[in-house]
Amino acid sequence: MRTAFSLYDLPDVRKPRLRAGFGGRRLFSKKPTHECPCGYFNHPEKECTCSPVMVQKYLNKISGPLLDRIDLHVEVTPVPFSELSSTKTSEHSEDVRTRVIKAREIQAARYGPESGIYCNAQMSSKQLKEICVINTVCQNLLKTAMDRLNLSARAYDRILKVSRTIADLAASEEIRPEHLAEAIQYRSLDREGWGG
Ligand SMILES: [Zn+2]
Repeated sequence: MRTAFSLYDLPDVRKPRLRAGFGGRRLFSKKPTHECPCGYFNHPEKECTCSPVMVQKYLNKISGPLLDRIDLHVEVTPVPFSELSSTKTSEHSEDVRTRVIKAREIQAARYGPESGIYCNAQMSSKQLKEICVINTVCQNLLKTAMDRLNLSARAYDRILKVSRTIADLAASEEIRPEHLAEAIQYRSLDREGWGG
């Protein structure tokens, strides 16, 4: 089997019994490139042999309400062996850890010890309006993304929260366009035609 996980394994959160189980848990999805029965849809080198109807049917296995509950979508394309074996160094995990701890401290200070909230993902809609204030450039960027990607209101909130976290990781007081752009990128599964 080529897929990292099968879309058929994903729960349908529209079923109430499953919805309860999701609670406040944070979800993270790594999307395999294989988005169709043959496994080559969107593949950089191989050709997909499925009909558009077959692909659409397969993509619809991920429901919109489920996608809305996942914070980050990351597209994973096949990595050539030359890159896997390259000696180029990436950021050391110790450094990443330090950055994450600092971002967590910023968030803990933002909400205060009495709030019961310790990270951006937990902020209320009211807090979102106060904390995730964005300038006109960012507003236009987000509006364009909402229109082009046909995003839901919940995805909109999610993007703002994630962009606040990206800004915290960069130790930036304001949410800058690059933070917002990165957060928008993490909603790649919200394209029109997916689920519903
Ligand atoms: Zn295919």
